[in-house]
Amino acid sequence: MRKNIVAGNWKMNKNLQEGIALAKELNEALAADKPNCDVVICTPFIHLASVTPIVDSAVIGVGAENCADKVSGAYTGEVSAEMVASTGAQYVILGHSERRAYYGETVEILEEKVKLALANNLKPIFCIGEVLEEREANKQNEVVAAQMASVFSLSAEDFGKVILAYEPVWAIGTGKTATPEQAQEIHAYIRSLVAEKYGQEVADNTSILYGGSCKPSNAKELFANPDVDGGLIGGAALQVADFKGIIDAFK
Ligand code: PEP
Repeated sequence: MRKNIVAGNWKMNKNLQEGIALAKELNEALAADKPNCDVVICTPFIHLASVTPIVDSAVIGVGAENCADKVSGAYTGEVSAEMVASTGAQYVILGHSERRAYYGETVEILEEKVKLALANNLKPIFCIGEVLEEREANKQNEVVAAQMASVFSLSAEDFGKVILAYEPVWAIGTGKTATPEQAQEIHAYIRSLVAEKYGQEVADNTSILYGGSCKPSNAKELFANPDVDGGLIGGAALQVADFKGIIDAFK
């Protein structure tokens, strides 16, 4: 059966020393009080090699927030999936709405990134979600269906390694969370798309996380929905008390 997962997305926050301190503090908190779900922290590239050895990999997975859409070579400033994997990281966030909006990541670019991540044994946390105007025009289903094209060219075996994260853009960093009903409705729809493409068993085994202003105070009611298998957490992943509060929603 699918896993429940709480994954943190640190975004462009924390310098190296601060990031190491945050990872250590989280590691200690979860060693003292074991989580009832998988926990992942996705950090800026520069933190990865320092953070992977200091967390207990049986309790906390580590991931990047992006990787290149090319294998290697003359792509100044880029970081390949192979480089990410060489740090000991096991996950990579791909398709975050900030990358789609500010760095022009298209369905086709993301398809390449997903393939390279999987070829390097990284589990993609693949983000999809609509902007406010699309939600207001009731177009959220068609938007997420179109975004899923980046992962629907995978074999069923490879798709089975992908974690999905539904993140309505209007809820990211805004304090405006989707209602549990809104989250359940679209998560069920996303799962139905997976079932249509790969069959019910693959769909039932796919973890679909919710992201967008998730906090300790709303995590439990969001995660209680049958098709919400955890969260991708931005702001609240930057303090151990908040992040652990969300992890504890599974207790
Ligand atoms: C995110 O950026 O993935 C996210 C969910 O951010 P926040 O929790 O801050 O809304």
